[in-house]
Amino acid sequence: MKSHWVGDVLAGAHDGETVELKGWVHRARGNNNIHFLSIRDSTGNIQCVGKKNILGEEIFDAFRSALIESSMIVSGEVVATDREHGHEIQVSSVEIVGPVDSTRPFPIGESDMLDVDEDGEMTYGGSKHTLDHRHLYLRTTRATTMLKLRSSAFGAIHDYFRSRDFIEYQAPNFVAGAVEGGSTLFEVPYFEKTAYLTQSWQLYAEAAMPALERLYTIAPSFRAEKSRTRRHLTEFWHAEMEMAWASNDEIMGHGEGVVRHIARTMLDEHEQELTSLDRDLEAIASYADNPYPRMRYDEAIERLQALKVDVEWGQDLDYSKEKILTQDFDVPHFLTHYPKVAKPFYHRVDPDDGNYVLCHDLLAPEGYGEIIGGGERTWSEQEILERIDEEGTPREPYQFYIDVRSYGGVPHAGFGLGVDRVVSWLAGASHIREVIPFPRTSRRVTP
Ligand code: ATP
Ligand code: MG
Repeated sequence: MKSHWVGDVLAGAHDGETVELKGWVHRARGNNNIHFLSIRDSTGNIQCVGKKNILGEEIFDAFRSALIESSMIVSGEVVATDREHGHEIQVSSVEIVGPVDSTRPFPIGESDMLDVDEDGEMTYGGSKHTLDHRHLYLRTTRATTMLKLRSSAFGAIHDYFRSRDFIEYQAPNFVAGAVEGGSTLFEVPYFEKTAYLTQSWQLYAEAAMPALERLYTIAPSFRAEKSRTRRHLTEFWHAEMEMAWASNDEIMGHGEGVVRHIARTMLDEHEQELTSLDRDLEAIASYADNPYPRMRYDEAIERLQALKVDVEWGQDLDYSKEKILTQDFDVPHFLTHYPKVAKPFYHRVDPDDGNYVLCHDLLAPEGYGEIIGGGERTWSEQEILERIDEEGTPREPYQFYIDVRSYGGVPHAGFGLGVDRVVSWLAGASHIREVIPFPRTSRRVTP
């Protein structure tokens, strides 16, 4: 269907040849004798020059009539120039495939990019107008760039786990119980019953742990997040892993490994895109190359208290505290050993000190905060029953989870990584919604 790609032309693969480009009009300018269209395809934008004296009046008028985002086929000779991109097309023929009606011009322009968003924050692509036209906004250079970086992250995650013999495994999205906590559960009518949308694959992954031993997924998770932040979606993509016989330390190694691999893959595949977003490539290389320090929760509390932050031992650390902690690090760092009182029953109590659980969060620098949460699971039947009862959680919805421990329970551990959060951080996005095509938040489910 397509013989030439803009990216190849820009890279010098067709100098002096006649090419046929299929794409969309990105920008247009000109006068009565010469007209410039910047034609975009998924690989780049190139300047196409149409001259009346070469094209003749009829073709020149057709070329000039193409409005922004019209789709077209343009043929012409590739000329290497010393201008911006180094290459342009001297147009010899033109066909408009999908015209744009002049009474309804393309509604998204550069001025719709950085703006006050629906939450009153300055972000890219967040105004009501832009979000209402999200289906068209996806074609902008910035959105396209984000989607390419996102694709790299998904590929890197699959690559990381598969090359280490993990099995990809799918958990159900309709579930009966909470993982993260009742306050963010989405309730769904389910025939005569009530079901919930899953917040994590974890409980169902643990059921397959004795079968597969090393498993992972990338799947959507759903959380009814009411607070409006730049880091929460109600539907996000969750890369999760579970591993039999593994310790908290061992899976932190995998958390670090997969994040470093994502950073490396983005650099290898999209250096140009990262540069176009003004990202510091050396910083991203350091995320790929340097080890991630580990700090116990207690030390984090001491640091915060030394900074006169109002925080007490036993509290979970919210974003305001994470942000302060990340200021001392220029690569991601782990927080480990949270107090038992701060975490749900499935976190394994530290056998060396019953006040703590064997868990971790990974916090990204540049103020992005938590990107991974995980740890060892309570794995003996007796202990899980004690912890469920201690929390006052009903046993009934978790019966299958308890059963898994009644038949050959073993130590195991796992984590969940927010893919959108990782992409948002590595891309330097102004808001998490920038990196997902159709963001779902408490404010909107449309378009
Ligand atoms: P937070 O405190 O930031 O809400 P959490 O403690 O609820 O995070 P976990 O339950 O540990 O997060 O989930 C694992 C990972 O999933 C998080 O580290 C984060 O990267 C991602 N994540 C969690 N909630 C969201 C959300 N609403 N939107 C996007 N990503 C999320
Ligand atoms: Mg949360």
